[in-house]
Amino acid sequence: MSTETQRVVLATSNPGKVQEFQVLLAPMGLEIVSQADLGVSSPEETGLTFLENALIKARHAARMTGLPAIADDSGLVVPALKGEPGLYSARYAGLHATDGENVVRLLNAMALLSDHDRIGYYLCAMTLITHPADPAPVIAQAGWPGRIGYEPKGIHGFGYDPIFIPEGSELTAAEMDPEVKNAQSHRALATAALIQQLS
Ligand code: IMP
Repeated sequence: MSTETQRVVLATSNPGKVQEFQVLLAPMGLEIVSQADLGVSSPEETGLTFLENALIKARHAARMTGLPAIADDSGLVVPALKGEPGLYSARYAGLHATDGENVVRLLNAMALLSDHDRIGYYLCAMTLITHPADPAPVIAQAGWPGRIGYEPKGIHGFGYDPIFIPEGSELTAAEMDPEVKNAQSHRALATAALIQQLS
């Protein structure tokens, strides 16, 4: 695919992600339009892995818009909770749960866990397809290791950021300058890997 101001649909309606991706994908020189801006709603995420769900989202957005599509699927994985919230990170406390409600549910689920069991990581699977039937999607996946804190702190980011403390940091992801998060997050690393494959 040529990288000359090609229009690409970003298959997410999450405003937090749209904001991060606009910055992260800037080096690609593409015109990135969110699916929400094109009136496309989200498909049902029926995959059993982040990667399957990313492909489902990308195919849906490409089909609905006729544009190449970039999609990600991401979430927080806590091994001591058998991988929860995992694929269900966005709806952990219910279908229309707010970020705050999801955070409270996770803190409650971890209430009895010791420091040792509070490790977790964000994972991001990304794909770029040129059309809905693209048999050779570009795929990248990356993680961001850390631990889960005991109480929400910070105002930046979204989702579980107020309780996610990245490895090597004393601050939560929500206390970090967004530029700092954008330089090291699972989405940053997966995006860099995707871009590298395209160049
Ligand atoms: P998705 O939109 O289906 O990929 O769901 C992603 C969900 O995972 C978000 O709604 C958040 O709950 C969580 N998540 C993914 N990435 C992040 C992040 O960078 N910070 C905080 N929460 C995240």
